Amino acid sequence: MSIQSINPATEEVLESFEAYNKEQIDAALEDAHNSFKSWRKTSFAERSKLFHRLASYMRENKAQLARIASLEMGKPIVESEAEVEKCALNCDYYADNAEKFLAPQEMQSNATKSYASFQPLGVVLALMPWNFPYWQVMRFAAPSLMAGNTAILKHASNVSRLSLEIEKMFQASGFPHGVFRTVLVPGAETEALIKDPRIAAVTLTGSEAAGTKVAATSGSVLKKHVLELGGSDAYIVLADADLDAAAKTAVQARYQNTGQSCIAAKRFFVEDSVADEFTEKFVKYTSQLRIGDPLDRETKVGPLARKDLRETLDKQVQDSLSQGAKLALGGKKVEGNGYYYEPTILVDVQPEMTVFKEETFGPVAAVIRVRDAQQAIELANASIYGLSSNLWTRNVDRAQELAKEIEAGGVFINGMTASAPSLPFGGVKHSGYGRELSHFGIQEFVNVQTIWIG
Ligand code: NAP
Repeated sequence: MSIQSINPATEEVLESFEAYNKEQIDAALEDAHNSFKSWRKTSFAERSKLFHRLASYMRENKAQLARIASLEMGKPIVESEAEVEKCALNCDYYADNAEKFLAPQEMQSNATKSYASFQPLGVVLALMPWNFPYWQVMRFAAPSLMAGNTAILKHASNVSRLSLEIEKMFQASGFPHGVFRTVLVPGAETEALIKDPRIAAVTLTGSEAAGTKVAATSGSVLKKHVLELGGSDAYIVLADADLDAAAKTAVQARYQNTGQSCIAAKRFFVEDSVADEFTEKFVKYTSQLRIGDPLDRETKVGPLARKDLRETLDKQVQDSLSQGAKLALGGKKVEGNGYYYEPTILVDVQPEMTVFKEETFGPVAAVIRVRDAQQAIELANASIYGLSSNLWTRNVDRAQELAKEIEAGGVFINGMTASAPSLPFGGVKHSGYGRELSHFGIQEFVNVQTIWIG
């Protein structure tokens, strides 16, 4: 079966790939499985050296790596470069900290000595999305491999060139063959892969729909899995907020990566007394975003990554308009080649409308007026998702109290949600379970082994 990479800015086919056949998949699994036996015995110092080398490789090849991402999935080039840099930072972070995070922890018991030690699980299968095509992979791979696991990557099919390039990065940096392997397999055909006895655990970053399938399959063979799924993050602006800063940051929080971010702010709850002023500023700053060719350094908003994603987004907007939402900006596809969509702001949005209930994966913001902070939190929580959230107020003490009531994996106060190597990342409710990054992330794919000495 053929898998195509299509440039979303031009709609041209960049490349076609054959999905891996049974023998190729088997060879990759065998490689990862065999290399685990020796990789798990390497020292932290050896692994650390390789990850520092990988970080250098990414920095040295930033321009070329970024270009591949921008061509295959349409990310504005400046953002692609920043993503590559961030991956390098993450490699360095785990190279420097993994040993400390996984140091044996002594515990009191009836033993002469007892402690928890952290052992790798084996081959981890990573099912990854196209939206941050390097970052999602490296944020899983650096901690997992530093812990002594090996990996099989099944990346999103629209970024196949990039997924092969990631495998190459590991090889070029000197990792032993088989420690990191890529396979080209359509998402719908991953069941056998998940069930293969050589796979010890599974991690998926992707949609809720894929999450339920992967959870069911992994569960059926009792394999540990981590799910990083969709979100419809709240961005709450209270009356005492710095409105100009909140509006400027809102633009970045919603439209970065052309709105295709799980942790993008999607539902904007604004206290009634400042709703008009905030919306006016939000519309003004959003209308200044430059839409264009992802390879142009001035471009702030590129095309959506695939044609079907634009169709889905447009339907969500049109449905919401017919349900009574009002258009403050945008609201339609950009004519011509490429899967472009106008940066859009809908106002007077209500909880029963599509843009409130569903995740909008593109440049569409929904503004909802609220009576007060309590109503904002009630409505923020009236979502099946719980990935992250944002809260703007000058009263930081109050914000920290309110944060406890928000059902989300993160609350960013007077700023926008952004992942960082040192901060735990993940969601609650339908946004998934498990955590990535920080010391929490590296502990997901280890056997916490109790050692008891009499
Ligand atoms: P997706 O369609 O779920 O795809 C993600 C990965 O899963 C791809 O590799 C895909 O392969 C594979 N896949 C699809 N259906 C599958 C199935 N039934 N069984 C096993 N694997 C399957 O998601 P996407 O459109 O690429 O990414 C957007 C979604 O990811 C959004 O919902 C977004 O919020 C979420 N996301 C979450 C996070 C987070 O950290 N929480 C980060 C980024 C994105 P194919 O491409 O071959 O179908």
